[in-house]
Amino acid sequence: MKTSVIGFPRIGADRELKFASEKYFRSEISEDELLETAEGLRAYNLRLQKENSIDFISSNDFSFYDNMLDTAVLFGAVPERYKALGLDALDTYFAMARGYQGEKGDVKALAMKKWFNTNYHYMVPEIDDEAVIKLSGTKPFSEYEEAKKNGALTKPAVIGAFTFLKLAKFTGSRTLSDLVEDTAAAYADYLAMLNEIGVQWAEFDEPYLVMDLTDEDKQLFAKLYKTILSAKGNTKVLLQTYFGDVRDCLNDICSLDFDGVGLDFIEGKKTLEIVLENGLNGKTLFAGIVNGKNIWRNNYQKTIELVKKLEEKCGEVVLNTSCSLLHVPYTLKSETKMADSYKKHFAYAQEKLEELKELSEILSADKPEEVDAYKANAALFSEERSGANADVRAKVAALKEEDFVRLPEFSEREKAQKERFKLPLLPTTTIGSFPQTKEVRANRAAFRKGEITREQYTQFNKQKIAECVSLQEEIGLDVLVHGEFERNDMVEYFGENLDGYLFTQKAWVQSYGTRCVKPPVVWGDISRARPMTVEWSKYAQSLTDKPMKGMLTGPVTILNWSFPREDISLKECAYQIALAIREEVLDLEANGIAIIQVDEAALREKLPLRRSDWRSDYLDWAIRAFRLVHSGLKPHTQLHTHMCYSEFTDIIQEIDDMDADVITFEASRSDLTILDTLKEKNFRTEVGPGVYDIHSPRIPSQEEIEGAITKMLDKIPAQKLWVNPDCGLKTRGIAETKPSLENLVNAAKQMRTKL
Ligand code: GLN
Ligand code: ZN
Repeated sequence: MKTSVIGFPRIGADRELKFASEKYFRSEISEDELLETAEGLRAYNLRLQKENSIDFISSNDFSFYDNMLDTAVLFGAVPERYKALGLDALDTYFAMARGYQGEKGDVKALAMKKWFNTNYHYMVPEIDDEAVIKLSGTKPFSEYEEAKKNGALTKPAVIGAFTFLKLAKFTGSRTLSDLVEDTAAAYADYLAMLNEIGVQWAEFDEPYLVMDLTDEDKQLFAKLYKTILSAKGNTKVLLQTYFGDVRDCLNDICSLDFDGVGLDFIEGKKTLEIVLENGLNGKTLFAGIVNGKNIWRNNYQKTIELVKKLEEKCGEVVLNTSCSLLHVPYTLKSETKMADSYKKHFAYAQEKLEELKELSEILSADKPEEVDAYKANAALFSEERSGANADVRAKVAALKEEDFVRLPEFSEREKAQKERFKLPLLPTTTIGSFPQTKEVRANRAAFRKGEITREQYTQFNKQKIAECVSLQEEIGLDVLVHGEFERNDMVEYFGENLDGYLFTQKAWVQSYGTRCVKPPVVWGDISRARPMTVEWSKYAQSLTDKPMKGMLTGPVTILNWSFPREDISLKECAYQIALAIREEVLDLEANGIAIIQVDEAALREKLPLRRSDWRSDYLDWAIRAFRLVHSGLKPHTQLHTHMCYSEFTDIIQEIDDMDADVITFEASRSDLTILDTLKEKNFRTEVGPGVYDIHSPRIPSQEEIEGAITKMLDKIPAQKLWVNPDCGLKTRGIAETKPSLENLVNAAKQMRTKL
């Protein structure tokens, strides 16, 4: 049986591309040196795939920054302001990716957005009125030729015309429909060129097909591909989808002249059902059965059963990854410190190639059960895995409706809290972290490496907390924070204090451009190993009479930023984490912390792609997990939460149902449009929509902040409004933080006199 890969991580096993690119940006290496690194990585990736006998290897999956950006450039969607810089092709490309500031001009980067439901970000193509959409580049052709020279006939892959147009932003007077013909013609020219150079198979990635589609969308898709496919000649065309199922359009796909259809059997809830029902009209099925998003080993027995069913219905089946392997780390070989008892359960990108190879061998054998690889896999899956915690399981199983309900209800709590805290109108606060200086990071690193004692480490942090508290008192903030000097990000610190978490050495995954993240792994049942923040918060509270906010990350965010288990449901996992955070919350309360913030920065992120799945697949348990965290608090303890993006207009009711007492969020960058929705929906929770943008070093003036507060007061009752920056201050310097917060406090004071 043949095998296929949608794409391979290009960043390199040791993030070689990241480091080379950053050196290039700092002018430490030449363009040629960067190109050489890139070529080396492509050759290496090709060799790995060849060694594992992959039949359909993608080319053009490499990118210096992002495949969507590559696609935009390939088809001429380069906005005028970048061309006007007069840079060479590569630097124009990087100007679009990162912005440019120098002797040739000053332009911002293209917008960046999350790629469907992943943590990867793509550059949003911009089509202005000057843009002429036509085939304008050669990257897919040259990378095909390069691979050919290296001994492989690859399938060049591009983001397809439908997804490209659906995700592009039209900045001029033209709209999507004005560009359909040109785009179809450009893609047709591209396909004709592939045919001309002898390409056997071409891949068009159309993940947008797994979204909820309108009739108009379906017509657009059909129209584009009628034109495009007319140019294919002898080249066969694979329509590749991923991140879900194509329930709305499988028939449309099957009626077009595609030769192969790539479907996702991992995330596509209905993929099997619709395929068994309709078949594929004789097209080759590229069955996405090796998970491109998670790092657990494939269960061969289950996969083989699935593939056999598919073969009966569809005829030719090719074993494929469920999406590009871009979303998993590179190779387990880099995990030199991880015990084998853990490692054997994982497959990173390289090991997934081996899985495809083994599956192919097993499926081609007369007696699959007798192939060694099959036996080894079956043994692995029948083994009892470590990390079970019967106590936690029992607690989750015993949860009752009342465990998710905090009493008394919000309005009564609000009264009790106003009574207790006697805060002024428009209370001022921050989101939690204060600037993380070099010394703060050095202190953590030294402790980690065992260069200083716990005593020394703690002493230093306490010193920092004390400085932070007196700074906030000097500035005059009403609700203080300890500053979060013990953490680098929002998950790792908590993961390290929870039983059941596992940390990797090199499991880097590209997030955007040269930025990679290293998500921890939920290995076993989760429980709180020890108090996590109590000592820090208690100490901070002892230094001041003002209320000190306890500061935690919520269960949904912790889970969303980890590699989750596959042997239990996300819901079960979220409830386990919620119970652990709940213990911490109650512990903080018992230790005199009267205000506790539980951040859910990433709650919006994993909202399912289809609206019909929002509640049943996600929000129902995600909101309940959050409620479980705080339902045991006393009425006069105030529970805050924080969310990073204000893109929650669509789920405003669910956000209110989290039943926090106060929510702060990031609205300053979206022109405060969320305020209308808050008003319209009678949002009950008190809110701090963020009066200035912390993502830029500029210092907002007092007048500016008063302006923002005035706008907010238009839509939000003064009794419900908080005044705060829009996110944590961790990435800022102290130089701009202090004056910014002073202006914020003065603006609040000034506004109070008017109320
Ligand atoms: N409490 C965190 C901080 O202030 C929140 C970070 C975030 O929202 N991304 O850094
Ligand atoms: Zn934030």
